[in-house]
Amino acid sequence: MDEVDVLIVGSGPAGSVAARYAAMKGASVMFLERRPTVGVPVRCGEFMPSDEEILNMFPKLKDMDSLFDIPEELRCLNTVGIDLINPDGKVTVLDFNGYTTDRDRFDQYLAKRAQEEGAVLSTDHAFQKIEDGVARTSKGDIKYKVIIGADGPGSMVARNLGLQKNRNPYPAMTAQVKGDYGNHTQMFFGGIAPGAYGWIIPKDGRANIGVGMSPKFSNGTLRAYFDKFVDKNGLEPVTKVQGKYVPSEGPIPKTVSGNGMVVGDAAGQVISVNGGGIPLAMIAGRICGNVAADNINNGTSLQAYETEWRDIMEKPLKLAAFNKKLADTFAFRSDFTTKMCMGILGKRRMGNLIRCKRIFP
Ligand SMILES: Cc1cc2nc3c(=O)[nH]c(=O)nc-3n(C[C@H](O)[C@H](O)[C@H](O)COP(=O)(O)OP(=O)(O)OC[C@H]3O[C@@H](n4cnc5c(N)ncnc54)[C@H](O)[C@@H]3O)c2cc1C
Repeated sequence: MDEVDVLIVGSGPAGSVAARYAAMKGASVMFLERRPTVGVPVRCGEFMPSDEEILNMFPKLKDMDSLFDIPEELRCLNTVGIDLINPDGKVTVLDFNGYTTDRDRFDQYLAKRAQEEGAVLSTDHAFQKIEDGVARTSKGDIKYKVIIGADGPGSMVARNLGLQKNRNPYPAMTAQVKGDYGNHTQMFFGGIAPGAYGWIIPKDGRANIGVGMSPKFSNGTLRAYFDKFVDKNGLEPVTKVQGKYVPSEGPIPKTVSGNGMVVGDAAGQVISVNGGGIPLAMIAGRICGNVAADNINNGTSLQAYETEWRDIMEKPLKLAAFNKKLADTFAFRSDFTTKMCMGILGKRRMGNLIRCKRIFP
């Protein structure tokens, strides 16, 4: 039977960053990925906010260390704005700096950084359950001292640890198109993507397009909405359409149980109003990896992870979840209410909404 200090399930941003930091502190780390290749297929809008925007959202994140040192070759295009488009096509332009990436190469880079610190990656390798204190996996049992669930929105590790699963995640679909789409992210609201939004996020001579929707506001399949969005905007996908769920209600109540922790989408660490989760998975992944190693090295309680990530991220994430509920109640009922609410909010308040800030004093 394999034996490790820290067993991590998932090689997305949360898992790879946790693996890197735990290994940097000397813990023996194995991270499992059920897919044959890390990051493939891509199921993401591939947008990353700038460091300044991340700090604006999470001002308590004091030390970024080398967390967001993403090499130039992984930055496809620097973007400078977000166009919020109402159901009539009226555009509100927000200044917002960020960049787009290729999520497959991005995730592979983060996994490589973890391996360079000594973490062992095992692909095509699925976690199945925890039984008698060991992890049963598709390649045999693994004994661990600490287990980390970085296994995405439908986390099996969370369930096995007795932690709450994400409630009401919404489905989203994405594909790539060719062409020049400027340097602003476009977000389309209304019946075209009920309860969420459609997007065109420019890359270098390409763009990532997609649609998310909330089943409670929809009367068709996500694929039907996606096809309608593509037709309406004259888009021609050049890749297979890929879908996945996005946590929509903010963090789960507890992220630590016994000798286990959950992180990233598995913990609901996603901005409810826009579905962004990559930077959050990385911020929490670093804390999680550090605490796992401290637990191994000197018995630090895993509760330190809960305390630390909540100190940095909980308030903005809860505010975003509250704002999403307001949008569900007042804006997403129809095109008319969406238009009206976007008009009432105006540019400044919609900027606050996107940045996890209060929209009313
Ligand atoms: C369509 C879409 C568009 C998005 N666009 C953006 C965006 O533009 N910007 C942004 O910041 N966020 C975006 N997000 C959210 C973002 O993708 C997630 O928040 C982020 O990927 C979370 O990282 P993670 O490591 O927690 O989980 P994931 O990236 O989901 O990684 C989890 C990994 O665990 C593996 N896994 C799962 N179960 C097992 C198992 N049993 N055994 C072994 N391995 C397992 C999975 O295969 C996966 O590789 C988007 C999400 C969707 C669905």
